[in-house]
Amino acid sequence: MRSIVKNNNKINGKVILVGAGPGDPDLITVKGVNALRRADVVIYDYLANDKLLAKCRAEAEKIYVGKKGGEHTLSQDQINRLLIDKAKTTSVVVRLKGGDPLIFGRGGEELLALKENNISFEVIPGVTAGTAALAYAGIPATHRAEATSVSFITGHEDPNKPESGLNWKAIARMNGTLVFYMGVKNLPTIVARLCKNGKLPTTPAAVIHWGTLPGQRTVQGTLANIEVRVQQENIKPPALIVVGEVVNYRNAMNWFEHLPLFGRRVVITRARAQSSELVRELESLGAEVIEFPTIKIIPPQSWQALDRAITDIAKYDWIVFTSVNGVEMFQQRLNHYDRDVRKLAKTKIAAIGPATAERLRLIGVRADLIPEKFVAEELAALIRKQGTLKGQRFLLPRADLARSLLKDELEKSGAIVDEIVAYRTTLAAADKDKVLHELNNRKIDAITFTSSSTVSNFVDMVGKDQLNCLDDVVVACIGPITQNTAEQLGIDATITAQEYTIPALVDEIVSYFQSINLEGKS
Ligand code: SAH
Repeated sequence: MRSIVKNNNKINGKVILVGAGPGDPDLITVKGVNALRRADVVIYDYLANDKLLAKCRAEAEKIYVGKKGGEHTLSQDQINRLLIDKAKTTSVVVRLKGGDPLIFGRGGEELLALKENNISFEVIPGVTAGTAALAYAGIPATHRAEATSVSFITGHEDPNKPESGLNWKAIARMNGTLVFYMGVKNLPTIVARLCKNGKLPTTPAAVIHWGTLPGQRTVQGTLANIEVRVQQENIKPPALIVVGEVVNYRNAMNWFEHLPLFGRRVVITRARAQSSELVRELESLGAEVIEFPTIKIIPPQSWQALDRAITDIAKYDWIVFTSVNGVEMFQQRLNHYDRDVRKLAKTKIAAIGPATAERLRLIGVRADLIPEKFVAEELAALIRKQGTLKGQRFLLPRADLARSLLKDELEKSGAIVDEIVAYRTTLAAADKDKVLHELNNRKIDAITFTSSSTVSNFVDMVGKDQLNCLDDVVVACIGPITQNTAEQLGIDATITAQEYTIPALVDEIVSYFQSINLEGKS
């Protein structure tokens, strides 16, 4: 239920101050996601991962108020004003801030401004960078007997201020872990003050840039050499400085930067609605995924043919699904007529591969057949093995541009085949310039093609004369048909999956990069 507060006869909304977590979008809390889902307005910062905005309703208003470096889009006063104004006109305003909103996030100032204006609020804490970036860099914030405390300290003090607000003597004497936020620019002053007040120059230190994200970089050393190393590696904000013995555990505990695809940037070209499995798998292996959807799935020009088939479903002996989309569209129309899968009780069902079979399982249907190789030729052969096809009726709900090989093969064996367009694929309207720029500047390690149409649409989108942008990029195809299309269009495939599935494609990508890593080390 939405809470509302009566104030001078006006009904105000509520502001929810939400911690977005340190960067990795999965590190937001469940409660934080729920708040985003019901937000009317989201006001977000530079450090809040904008992928989180996908959790909001499409019609929610999204307002960026971040500051990068010293450049503010709005001053703190203007942000406070905006929060108040929005709360007066809408019911749920989410204020999304990086990490935890009340740790160096100026969240406290915003809450006081709301309080003064009688706007009610809630706070949903977040995972702060001061613990999460350390965890992703393989540094335990505390460790039994060695670091019995951890301090979060601002590194943002003006070094020319005559009196520091910090008690450097006390800080230098702390035996625990010191974590400085916003301190990269002041690193020389921080190191000097610590050493002047008694910290040994041999104390281990690390600087973590964009922790928990695929672009995470960590520099490790001691107070004596950390400045030079940070300069050499050209580390810029946002970054945390960690000082203490716990830094040494990184050698044993550094897991994230050792994930097999860590630091690899991979473009994926499939339709956004279908990309989640591939995105999840690649990201969980440490890759940074750049979505460049070349395809959009749209309904057929008319539902007439599919609807007629569904009404007459009992006349078919077989339904053969050759894609997840085919299953989805079929289910949609079945629902549309208020029918369910019991209507399919007498029909045999084949699926081209495990993803299609899995999608069928979700609607309560177990495929009778799945070929060992997920191509039309194999499926046709397997169906033929089931007995004579003479006079058997087949329904093939499929894409508009699909190959008609399966139909031809089945008809050769005497089957009667109704091939029906259940969905169409069109060119997606993705912004090609950014991806092309990154490809041309060797900022991309790999590109994946998961169907022939992703390849042909890619070529249409970037232009045939631009294909040299793939010269130094690993081109990964899901199977031989996609590879063939790529080669016909002038793109050399580096990798082709043996089994034509997303997990197999990801495995091939991993083995490829692992072999390169090994070469690099030998
Ligand atoms: N409220 C935030 C901190 C905001 S202050 C939190 O709880 O994490 C901004 C500073 O936080 C940056 O200058 C940097 O020192 C640190 N920071 C935030 N996100 C970071 C990240 N992903 N990696 C490293 N440092 C980060």
